[in-house]
Amino acid sequence: MQLSKLAAVVTGGGSGIGRAICQRFAREGACVAVVDIDADRTRQTLDELSTKGPDCKHHAFTTDVSSAESVAKLVKEIPEKFSVTPTILVNCAGITKDSFLVKMDERSFDDVIRVNLKGVFLVTQAISKLMIDNKIKHGSIINMSSISGKTGNIGQCNYTASKAGIEGMTRTMAKELAEHDIRCNAVLPGWIESPMTQAVPEKVLTKHLGMIPAGRLGQPEDIADACLFLASRKSSYITGTSIEVTGGLFM
Ligand code: NAP
Repeated sequence: MQLSKLAAVVTGGGSGIGRAICQRFAREGACVAVVDIDADRTRQTLDELSTKGPDCKHHAFTTDVSSAESVAKLVKEIPEKFSVTPTILVNCAGITKDSFLVKMDERSFDDVIRVNLKGVFLVTQAISKLMIDNKIKHGSIINMSSISGKTGNIGQCNYTASKAGIEGMTRTMAKELAEHDIRCNAVLPGWIESPMTQAVPEKVLTKHLGMIPAGRLGQPEDIADACLFLASRKSSYITGTSIEVTGGLFM
């Protein structure tokens, strides 16, 4: 098992890609902190996690990643629940509020930046302080960006700005945290089947499906596998980069 005796924090763990990451990490022996704004879905993810032995207890936390107060509470509670300091963080919580540029209201722009971009800043700042204070070894932070942050996407000027911002922030984090033995990388999913993409009109999905060389939409497990690689020692010389998991879309 690649993550045996390690603790991992996964935001957005109550749904879709985040839930698949929690499951993958738990199967690899990690103790998982499932973090999400939705208490019921967070608990559901927790209930579905496999547990390997008495050393490996998972815990659920209801947290709003965009609130400094809520994140401070999370970071206070984590050491109370886990016997080891987390060495892995996956920032996966995210939202969309799509609209054409000329129609988008200020609130939709601010909300998406606040959750997707400021949320990554707040959680990473708090968890990396915990890692540094506890002198952890071989830390890994993984930020969920999107291929649309690179290519742009009609109706998503707020979302694409947040996801492009995550890539820049990841590189800064990688430079600043390297001296503390913490690596930081971004994952850029393409079209992944999840509750987030269920809201996308069938017509749009079919059009994009035709553009994916792999000939299928991605599954949350495809992203979880990339996160496992970045979380594990198998990627120990990889930092400050982005991995596209898109089935070849926009290569
Ligand atoms: P999802 O199923 O909607 O999961 C996102 C989770 O984050 C939801 O449980 C959501 O709760 C939670 N969340 C929202 N705001 C939060 C907050 N303020 N604090 C804590 N948790 C919050 O979406 P997904 O498809 O798994 O996406 C996961 C990540 O991958 C996102 O960052 C997304 O942008 C990125 N991504 C997804 C795709 C794709 O095709 N699916 C492609 C590229 C990138 P609510 O449901 O209550 O909002």
